[in-house]
Order: sequence, then structure tokens, then C-alpha cells
Amino acid sequence: MDQTTMYKLTYGLFVLTSAADGKDSGCIINTAGQVTSEPNRISIAVNNSNFTADLVKKSGKFNLSILSEEAVFDTFRHFGFQSGRTADKFAGFPDCRRSANGLYYVTAGTNGWISATVEQSLDLGSHTLFIASVEDMEVLSGVPSATYTYYQSSIKPKPAQPASPGKTVWRCKVCGYIYEGEELPADYICPLCKHPASDFEKVTG
Ligand code: FE
Repeated sequence: MDQTTMYKLTYGLFVLTSAADGKDSGCIINTAGQVTSEPNRISIAVNNSNFTADLVKKSGKFNLSILSEEAVFDTFRHFGFQSGRTADKFAGFPDCRRSANGLYYVTAGTNGWISATVEQSLDLGSHTLFIASVEDMEVLSGVPSATYTYYQSSIKPKPAQPASPGKTVWRCKVCGYIYEGEELPADYICPLCKHPASDFEKVTG
């Protein structure tokens, strides 16, 4: 069985936003899609360690801002590489507006947004799958949506070359962070995006 077959699946990229108890937050997800058209429903899968997952469970509603090819790496860094438990991601963040459901959506580097109300949720262990009915939506631009592949090839910063020939570094395949050293500790966690050692690749100079 070829595990890399999974890479042939296509994914979009989204800022998932929600709010509860007066706190707004958002995170990056790559798992959203339409599941029925009549009535119009979408599904999202969210890692339970994300603060935004807690907010969706509490409030039963969320917004999905669809990232476009104009999205910049800072948007991924802002929403993806810090936790809403410790950072207020909307404090001083200019590129957002509130929709009729009271939640923020992101207006820069996005080509549309969808407001949805949770109908069902399924705890999958690491993630929760939410099935939600679409309440409102708007197209913001005609720029194509960013796919995960596009993010990897064109948005994520290009890796720095190893400092000197013959030197080995390890590169996080998710965010591009470079760990300098011959061997990467098995329990290493990327300091930028919090992905494990298995998401690093060896780069030999
Ligand atoms: Fe990383």
C-alpha cells in the first residue's frame, strides 16, 4: 500500500472562525467541503487541540473564510502557528469584518466566506467532524482558491539552504522551519507550527 496516495487528494485552505463567552478566535484548516446541496450543508474537521474547536462546540456556529492565491504567509503564521488560548488573534487585526451571525470573517487573501450553523458533530478522537447548514455567504474576489499544493509551492517561504556544503539540516515540511543538526530528536516538535518530527525532512548540503 502506497501511503503517498493520500497526497493525491486535493485540499483547500480556510480560516475557521468562531466565538464563545465573548472570545473570538480562528485557526487554519484544510478540511472543508460541501456535503449536500438541498439543503446546503458543509462539513469541517477540526483538530480538538485547537481553541477554535472548543468555540465551535460551545457556540454551534462558525465562519469559513476561503483562502485565495493572494493569501500571504503571514496569514498562515497568524492563524496557524499560535494558539487562541494564549493569543487574541483579532486584537488589532485589521483585515476582518463581522457577518450577521456576529462572527468574524477574514477579508484579505480570501475570495469568499460562508456562515454555518452546526447540525451534527462526531468526535473522531484527534478531530471533531462538524456537519453544518449554510446560513449566509459572499464572494469577495475572483482570485482562485489556494490549494494545499499551491501553499506548498508558492506561499510557504522557500527553504534556506544549509549554511555550508556537507552540513545537514532538517526542514519542517509544513512551515519551512529549519532545525540545524545531524540528527533530529524523535520527540522534536516544530517551534513554529507545532508539527512533530515526522513532518521534517532531511536536507543535506
Ligand atoms: Fe513547522
